[in-house]
Amino acid sequence: MTDKNFDISKRNFVKKCLALSAGVVTMPCHRVMNSIIMEEQVLYWKVAMFQEETPRGIMCRICPNECVLKEGEISDCRNRIVRKSKLYTMAYGNPCSVNVDPVEKKPLYHFFPGSRAYSIATAGCNMVCLNCQNWAISQTSPDKTRNFNLPPEKVVEESINNNCRSIAYTYSEPVTFYEYAYETAVIAKKSGIKNIFKSNGYINPEPLKKLCTVIDAANIDLKSFNDNTYLRLAGGKLQPVLDALKIYKEMGVWLEITNLIVPTWTDNTDEIGLMCKWLSENGFKDTPLHFSRFYPTYKLEQLPPTSVELLRTASKIAEGEGLKYVYIGNVPGNEMADTRCPNCGTTVIARQGYRITTNNIKDGRCIKCNTIIEGVWS
Ligand code: SF4
Repeated sequence: MTDKNFDISKRNFVKKCLALSAGVVTMPCHRVMNSIIMEEQVLYWKVAMFQEETPRGIMCRICPNECVLKEGEISDCRNRIVRKSKLYTMAYGNPCSVNVDPVEKKPLYHFFPGSRAYSIATAGCNMVCLNCQNWAISQTSPDKTRNFNLPPEKVVEESINNNCRSIAYTYSEPVTFYEYAYETAVIAKKSGIKNIFKSNGYINPEPLKKLCTVIDAANIDLKSFNDNTYLRLAGGKLQPVLDALKIYKEMGVWLEITNLIVPTWTDNTDEIGLMCKWLSENGFKDTPLHFSRFYPTYKLEQLPPTSVELLRTASKIAEGEGLKYVYIGNVPGNEMADTRCPNCGTTVIARQGYRITTNNIKDGRCIKCNTIIEGVWS
């Protein structure tokens, strides 16, 4: 059960002040806006999953940060707190961002193409990426954002009302609103709605395995193949992400991977080569890989956008390692946004932006040569 917060009047006062100073704004689509109410503040608390008592405090075991918190302390991801010797999540039923997106926006190119994903996020993240596009909601906490009142059942109801094939847990970092995402996904699954995780993959094996029983597809950011860069750019470690990729795959979740190429940070072609080699040698040849173009943002505003030439070089490296579905993202009008049959080269799905203009996949196969195109098509 959800517990409405204690001491609400005092908290509301503090929250209103903080929300004003943070200037956090979300832009839900009008259709969604009409059917749900954005309240001044909606702050729900719920007992957190995967918590453990230790002599140093309560440990959260959801992600590799493994925060150990004493009474009243708040987690690295900014949405967990210890009260009366119990860990609570403050990110439950109170998303600050709600939109209906094309599934291609996640990006997922091999999962119900052309369908709609009801997309939600609460505030909070377990990394601190210098290039975060959604820093206004990821680098803050749910008590500082304007939130919707949207418990899990209502998310599912709204996804059906908006003709969505799936619910996407996205924008900020869904690992940190694990309880909300998991319990929504359980209800969605029973209602025939698919569940999508757009995540940094920074999660411990046990919670991930539980999550994979209800998640249908994931797009995971593989930010770099250099542990030192991972730490300096994102505040995370590489190995737990690699382990998570394997678990997603082993547990039958449809997986796609995004690698954002950030000039001077993750543009080393030798490292891109090592990453592609690792993917190739570890069973990810059939997994779509999206090389994504960086645009100056947040703490890296001084950098230029990634050159298209470099994105093409990276794609060639990946194809050279035998990866079958390699894409270039964030470059409007490029042919590397299309899906080609790995056998005969026919364009089986053509895209313009997030729109599907041609679909030549029939029963999961290339219409021309009958080769299987891996994915979840219907
Ligand atoms: S999910 Fe949040 S509280 Fe839990 S370990 Fe990760 S950063 Fe810490």
